[in-house]
Amino acid sequence: MSKADQKRIEADLFQLAKYNSTPGKGLTRLSYTEEFRQAQSYLCEEMEKLGMTVRSDAIGNLIGRAEGRLSQNRKDEGAHIPALAVGSHLDSVRCGGIYDGNVGIVCGLEIRRMCRENGVQLRHPYEIIAIAEEEGNTFGSGIMGGKAIAGMFDRSILDTLTDESGRTVRKAMTDYGLQPGAIDSVKRSRTDLAVFIEPHIEQGPVLENENLSVGIVNAIVGIRTREIIIEGRPDHGGTTPMYLRKDAVLAMTEIIRLAENTVRKLDDGTVLTCGSIRIEPGSVNVVPGKAVFSVECRSVNQESLDLVFGKIEAHLEKLRGNGFAVSVKPLMELAPTRLSDRVIDALRKGMTAHGLKERVLPSGAGHDSMCIADITDVGMLFIASRDGRSHCPEEYSSPKDIADACDVVYTALMELDQAIE
Ligand SMILES: [Zn+2]
Repeated sequence: MSKADQKRIEADLFQLAKYNSTPGKGLTRLSYTEEFRQAQSYLCEEMEKLGMTVRSDAIGNLIGRAEGRLSQNRKDEGAHIPALAVGSHLDSVRCGGIYDGNVGIVCGLEIRRMCRENGVQLRHPYEIIAIAEEEGNTFGSGIMGGKAIAGMFDRSILDTLTDESGRTVRKAMTDYGLQPGAIDSVKRSRTDLAVFIEPHIEQGPVLENENLSVGIVNAIVGIRTREIIIEGRPDHGGTTPMYLRKDAVLAMTEIIRLAENTVRKLDDGTVLTCGSIRIEPGSVNVVPGKAVFSVECRSVNQESLDLVFGKIEAHLEKLRGNGFAVSVKPLMELAPTRLSDRVIDALRKGMTAHGLKERVLPSGAGHDSMCIADITDVGMLFIASRDGRSHCPEEYSSPKDIADACDVVYTALMELDQAIE
């Protein structure tokens, strides 16, 4: 049986890397730009060479499709056979790397080539999906293509969000030749999409640290972010004794330390970031009267998020009792997503079949997959990132590791193709 070919994988990645508006400074390929169109044309040509029919949906997701044996057999009966799909996003951040997103699409192409070389025609239709506008660098709102597939796209942003030049999402899409009015037609369902697998770079250091090429993602973390505002009283930093102070910064540090201790005790992979702090008046000799800071917690366990913020809330109540004015503003609320056990099992079998050590890990970043998981069975396979870097020109995953991912997903698809009706 022929396996994934590292040279072909590299050739696809390097070709896609040419469709870039910032050569020499990393990859910039924002959705609905000329570079984006060129990348889509390249994919379209490659997919047609591989005997696939290609279409674009109303939001600009490019979908290549090869019919399966079942579709041909049951054509006369008019039966609808759900597809098995592999893919990821085609857009990039500004001055990012050539692997984020692209790798998932290139794996989709390579798997199709492997099927052809091995003389395999799947029972189900096979699709490669190159998703539009995941990174959110154009309009400030990401995962648009994935949300549209899941039927979660918020149509109000078509006219409220704009790019740097003031062009609305609707105008940018229309200028590109898309039909924003028909976005509802992008929605898929389990009856026409049985499985979506997204191979993606890890964007973290775990796999490389353990000398592994790939790892199975079991869940995508939930994110809860709050801005907390604590108001005490600004006083003279020399004349006010400690017991009479209402120091907002000391109160803030109590909250941060409490959150840190709670997260460390949980020891379930939950992470905490207090990345933005503003202090007023911000003078060396004045007791800080006001502290505004962010608390962001990410976890695959909803109960862990509830526990951390429950403890914070209880301590804030104590501060209120001590004469502080306290308020909390929600900045982000995203529930954890469990990925499909059925796909995870198939990926496990793929790893065993190719002699790879099984490793399961959560994703700390958001992906299209977390939305698509709402409508069908979704799996993700992470590929080791050198130094854990991503969203920068230094981003790198080796062709060998990407080939491992293709082999694992190929075997998983064979398994799922048999198991799914
Ligand atoms: Zn990505």
